[in-house]
Amino acid sequence: MEFNRRQFVAAATLGGILSSTLKAENTAPPSGAGKLTLSAQPGHLGGGDWMKKFARARELGLDAVEVGGGGLPEHYKEIRDASKASGLPVTAVCAGFQGWAIAADPKVRQQFEDSMKRLLEAAGEIGSSGVIYVPAFHGQAAMPDLEARKHLTGFTRWDRKDEGQSILKTLGNFAKEHKPRLLLEPLNRDETYFIRTVAEGASICRDVDNEGCAMMADLWHMTWEETSDYAAILSGARWIHHVHIASRRQRALPGTDGDADNYTQGFKALKEVGYTGAVSFECRGGDEAKTKAAIALVRKQWAEA
Ligand code: MG
Repeated sequence: MEFNRRQFVAAATLGGILSSTLKAENTAPPSGAGKLTLSAQPGHLGGGDWMKKFARARELGLDAVEVGGGGLPEHYKEIRDASKASGLPVTAVCAGFQGWAIAADPKVRQQFEDSMKRLLEAAGEIGSSGVIYVPAFHGQAAMPDLEARKHLTGFTRWDRKDEGQSILKTLGNFAKEHKPRLLLEPLNRDETYFIRTVAEGASICRDVDNEGCAMMADLWHMTWEETSDYAAILSGARWIHHVHIASRRQRALPGTDGDADNYTQGFKALKEVGYTGAVSFECRGGDEAKTKAAIALVRKQWAEA
């Protein structure tokens, strides 16, 4: 097949773009001694108000608390007070926005943008590391894949990288003003078709290239989708600022599923890249003995990893 000059110039230009991109990708992620910050969602912290929940987290031996985003703009002060009183920081804010990022209906996309801004402001008030979001779940009418990607990142081809508007850049700039980040969460195939692996989420973060846009890794979803926890964490290391954990089969407290609940390869990668964010229980709860056993198991595996 003849390779003409025009094709050559186009290939050379694309090659230049790709080689500079690959160079950036091959830069080693930060390394150092990772530190485990063990956190849990409020469902693990008993009843009562936020003061009681944060106090309970401390009694259980947790280091921090993850909170839900529902109603956060109205009640963030209670959480801030409870966090201060207990000495335990807030980790991520889990969802709580309206609409969804890649909705087919522009009004629903606007709902997402507006509500995410309110959540980011509130999350900033409580010192949160970021607001967790999913671009769309199954059953939520969404733009076709390529259009969705373009809406999020502003482009679909590297040689047209700076031509389009990116909703994540807009929100990322807003997030930077208020400190917390947007944290994209890849989910398993049963919950979404769009962004299911850590590497896919990381490629969105890389494309957006904005400090306000990062991601998280959920070891439960990773059980379904990844071939290697270690490799998956390394692929997203630069952008991962939160981790969810659950037992591998029943999505209950770590340890519920016996030998299947081995997280050491993921922890090994987190330690190698100097991760200091939270590992947070997002799972069905159990009684005090089971919760304490799960905390002990996670701490033991982190130490061994
Ligand atoms: Mg999760």
